[in-house]
Amino acid sequence: MPQLTLLTRISMFEFSTQKRDEFGLMNETPKQNALGDHYRVVIIGAGVGGLYLIKRLTDLGIDVVLLEGEGGVGGTWYRNRYPGARFDSESYTYGFSFSKSLLNEWHWQERYSPQPENLRYFNYVVEKFQLAEHIHFNCWLTHAHWQEAERHWWLALGDGRQLKADFVISAIGLLSVPTKPRYEGVDRFKGDSFHTFEWPDEPVSLEGKRVGVVGTGATGIQVIGEIAPIVDSLHVFQRRPNWAAPLNNSAISGAEMDDIRARYEEIFEFCSKTPGGFAHEPDRRGFWNFTREERVAFWDELYDQPGFSIWLANFREIFTDEIANAEFSDYIAGRIRARVFDPKIAEKLIPKDHGFGWQRVPMETNYYEAFNLPYVHLVDLNETPITKVTESGIETSDGLIALDLIVYATGFDAVTGAFNRIDIRGVGGRSLREKWADGPETYLGTLVSGFPNFMMVAGPQSASSLSNFPRAIEIGGDWIADLISHVMGTGCSRVEATKEAEAEWTAHVAEMYEALLMRKGKGWFTGYNSNLDGHTGERIHYFVYNGGAPKFHETLRSVASENYRGLTMS
Ligand code: NAP
Repeated sequence: MPQLTLLTRISMFEFSTQKRDEFGLMNETPKQNALGDHYRVVIIGAGVGGLYLIKRLTDLGIDVVLLEGEGGVGGTWYRNRYPGARFDSESYTYGFSFSKSLLNEWHWQERYSPQPENLRYFNYVVEKFQLAEHIHFNCWLTHAHWQEAERHWWLALGDGRQLKADFVISAIGLLSVPTKPRYEGVDRFKGDSFHTFEWPDEPVSLEGKRVGVVGTGATGIQVIGEIAPIVDSLHVFQRRPNWAAPLNNSAISGAEMDDIRARYEEIFEFCSKTPGGFAHEPDRRGFWNFTREERVAFWDELYDQPGFSIWLANFREIFTDEIANAEFSDYIAGRIRARVFDPKIAEKLIPKDHGFGWQRVPMETNYYEAFNLPYVHLVDLNETPITKVTESGIETSDGLIALDLIVYATGFDAVTGAFNRIDIRGVGGRSLREKWADGPETYLGTLVSGFPNFMMVAGPQSASSLSNFPRAIEIGGDWIADLISHVMGTGCSRVEATKEAEAEWTAHVAEMYEALLMRKGKGWFTGYNSNLDGHTGERIHYFVYNGGAPKFHETLRSVASENYRGLTMS
């Protein structure tokens, strides 16, 4: 891969900063009507899932409101404003597919669109379909209690307001509860410090700053590649390196966008057949049917291709066969060695405790080249652990590193975290938090036994959590909307998953982990997070359905066609 000059990199940063300014729309809170006291459906969260559901349910003429805790729509794309935040799905596969006019009107500027453009897109959707009148902002749900006698949910908000809902749909996101390290003194630092999820709305000046970034997951890797050219010094505090590969982003010209528009149907059809709903499908020709040289030639091609090709268009065996995976990991290690000038630093950047793709693969832009800059320092926390954060910087066993700004790219209380911070109580006052103390149990990642009329879009154990989000959201969202109208249409007022169906699905989800090397990874897919009790990686939390999106969607369809097998309605 060609090395970018410092100048090119700076102008890339200016380009994205300039774009942020253009999008004045993104911080506006639309006008609101007064919040009522009883709705047929209440949706929680105005991210991709919540927006899709509010559109579907209002189209069906259902009395529905969407409650959003933040001051604007977009969920992940509203909050993650850190430099370098962008899609790693192809932009044109991430947009909603339900409206031809929306597809025709929107021009994705880059193959992997940056956060400001993404946020502008979701605001555009809200404006185009006049969704704002159904959304209430700054509404943090704190309690949701099922009232069996009345057959509705009682909901309470952080500001004391209360309301009722016949049905509640959770669209609260998988990665919406950030976790910071529990180092002594984290709150003592006198300079600016924040988790990437809480990156401030106002511009953060990085020029001339001594910056520390803790964490080298997908987020840290995006931040580091983006800010390295403009800071005065950068210390990267790395505990475990991740396997990363080039994003190979590029602009989308008007002509290319016209071509994409003409092929949208074909593109979405293709995505619907791939395991992750992405525009990449695994190569089924067989790893062992090729010589090592042929495999390397294939990987050389993939390495230069955009996006997840290197991971998701690779031989299937990479995901399942430890020997095949080791050979490919070794190939990527060679690429890292070729890009990082200092061989000792290169070795530290190469994971030794897991293979490529055992954890979610970060896509990078100039990440490895950043370490060739003389003022970028890799602090290996295995050699020199952090002892504390002080007023002036981060202290390791090797001494104090003075800093002006600390960025925590330290991950999330993934998947169940957002549920756990709401007091959700089902039949008999049973707490969802307690029910899920040893890991989530769901039916189809969508319903929970003991919690009637409660549905989750992209919930734990659904395929949505592992796939190109909007592709799965539209299918899962349609399923939920159809179920609600079916229940209403049959004159029923209560729907619940049976214990048996839930147990069967939960066991099936666990079983699907067995086939994949991913089960050995210490990432959020398996519920690992060192900053949370009980998430040490010794025990898998079965957070995602990894049998593939097509199989998941086929199951949803068959359940519906068999008169909603596994559900009771009354
Ligand atoms: P993450 O993958 O959980 O990574 C967290 C990083 O912080 C890891 O390197 C971890 O090290 C480190 N860390 C955590 N606690 C630490 C501590 N106390 N001391 C030192 N290091 C610590 O989180 P993330 O990078 O935010 O990514 C989460 C997910 O968000 C991704 O997997 C992806 O699904 C999504 N994401 C998507 C995009 C996109 O392009 N669309 C971009 C960013 C993120 P250990 O590994 O040693 O724990």
